[in-house]
Formats: sequence, structure tokens, C-alpha cells
Amino acid sequence: MNEPLLSVRDLHVGFGTSEGEVQAVRGVSFDIHKGETLAIVGESGSGKSVTASAIMRLNFGADVRVSGSANFDGQEILTMTEDEIRSLRGRDIAMIFQDPLTALNPFYTVGHQIAEAYAVHHPETSKKELRAIALDAITKVGIPEPVKRFKQYPHEFSGGMRQRIVIAMALINRPKLLIADEPTTALDVTVQAQILDLIAMMQEEHGSAVILITHDLGVVAEITERVLVMYAGRLVESASVIDAFGAPAHPYTRGLLNSVKSLDSDRHSRLEPIPGTPPSLIDLPSGCPFHSRCRYAESLHGKCSSEVPELKAVGNSWSACHLPVEVLAARLKDS
Ligand code: SF4
Repeated sequence: MNEPLLSVRDLHVGFGTSEGEVQAVRGVSFDIHKGETLAIVGESGSGKSVTASAIMRLNFGADVRVSGSANFDGQEILTMTEDEIRSLRGRDIAMIFQDPLTALNPFYTVGHQIAEAYAVHHPETSKKELRAIALDAITKVGIPEPVKRFKQYPHEFSGGMRQRIVIAMALINRPKLLIADEPTTALDVTVQAQILDLIAMMQEEHGSAVILITHDLGVVAEITERVLVMYAGRLVESASVIDAFGAPAHPYTRGLLNSVKSLDSDRHSRLEPIPGTPPSLIDLPSGCPFHSRCRYAESLHGKCSSEVPELKAVGNSWSACHLPVEVLAARLKDS
């Protein structure tokens, strides 16, 4: 296979607080290739958004400790200077945030903001060209009456239309990597599908790789090929979407799937929530961070609460669980 576009290795991110260090990301490693779509899923606080922010270098404050490596297209992101990362951000790596209203500046027209996103990386472009490029971008994301809309402010757009503007800004420089952090969470269900279709369509046109951060497994099934499951800052499963949904290799992934309804589930069947709550990231338990919520933990006679499981191959997937591969496969099949 070709060299990965982005290769993340042993990424750790910790935030200093008055109560101790929040270990938000702990030893995450993954690759993404050109044109690929990868989802990172997990509950709130699992570390998925912090992982994305670290790749964009958006959380490097005084109290933040970051280590590991994030090699993008042959360049190490984590040790770049501010000028280097600024020229990369928005041009080669772009991000779509959850709330389009906060991602846009209320004091400037959307036309100005889209044109500015291009001008930052192409300062030689004339005003006339910038206007034409911005109008083209507005048209491509399906906003009607682009000439009129160009002169309007963010508050004059609906949530779905604002997210289209944010997508237009993110893609205007044809980034090699697009990171979409919960891009449909703040939108009506009817608009969500349109935005996902738009991201998929634009990805095909631009050939960008996409990292989709979400807690919504329906969104994952819709547009991604591979999924990483995170729990308490660690990667617990890495699999193709088909394997993760059809034969999840980690008890936590199985729990996530059991806690949502699928179209073919019985109308009267009950959802099975995962018992308990995620652990504190300041005071992490020993062993597997999922052990207090896992129904298989007792059968391993204390191993789950004392030893941290490493990722290991289970069929076509990778799973961080102490259950022997064959036992895991059999139990998951029966559950
Ligand atoms: Fe459950 Fe133990 Fe596997 Fe963790 S290591 S997921 S506690 S069986």
C-alpha cells in the first residue's frame, strides 16, 4: 500500500488542571491514506476531538502536554513552528466544526469570509478573482442565489446553510485532509443527510482524505470505510465499518451498537445501555479502563483490573481486550 497521508504514533495529550492532569489521549496510533474516509467514534470525553485538535495543533496552550508523532505528508506536525503550522492549516489540512455559527465571524459577510479563506494562502489573487472563486464555492455547496447570498451575514442563513458555508471555506483550498468534528450534530435530522452527502460529494471531487469525528454510528455507516473506536483516551478497536458493525471485536464496540436502534431491529425490542459511566481521566483505574462496565471482566479473574490490554489482531480487526481471540469471537457471536 502507498505511504499514509497522515501517520499518528503514540499520541498523548494531557491538560493540567488544579485537580491534576486530565489524560485526554493516551497512546493513540493510526494511519489514513489519500482519499480514504476514517471515522473516530466514542462517547463524550473519549478523546476523539482532542486527537483531531492535536493534529491541527489547536490545543497547544501552556498547560497542555503533547507527545508522540503526527507525520503529515512527510512533515512532523507536532514540532512545526507556528508559522509552519499556520501555512499548513486551512490549505493542506482543513477542519469543519460542530457549530457553524461559532465557526463564522458574525461581523463579515459570508462572501468575504470564503474569499479570505482562499486569500490567506494565495495573497497574489486579485479582488475580482477572489470574488469569482468565492461565488463558485458557494454554488458548489448547493446554496441558491449565490450572488445575493455572497453579500449576506451568517445570521441570515439557516443552520444547514451555515454548515454549507463552513464546508465551502474548508474545501476552497482543496485540502489533502479534511477533519470533520461532529459536522451534523447541531443540525436537524433532515439536513444531516444533505450535509453528509455534500461532504462525500466534495471529497470525491477533491480527492481529500476525511477524518470524521462522531458519536453517531448511523453517520459512520453512511459515509466511512474504516472506524477507530476510542474509550477513555485509548484506541480500543480498529476495523473496517463492515467488520465493526457486523462482528465487533471489542465489548465496548458491541455495547455501543446495542445501545442504538437499527432499522431491522424489532419495534418492541429494548435498547441496552452500557452500564455505569466512563472513568475520570484524572484518576484512571488500573488495567482495562472499561473493566468496571464490562460484562466479561469477571471471567478473567482480575486480569482486566490489573493489566492494560494492548491492541491485538482479532480476525480482520484490532482490539484491545484480554479475552482470548477465539473466546472473544465466540462470545460476541452469542451475545
Ligand atoms: Fe472487558 Fe477485560 Fe476486555 Fe476490558 S480487557 S474489554 S474489561 S474483557
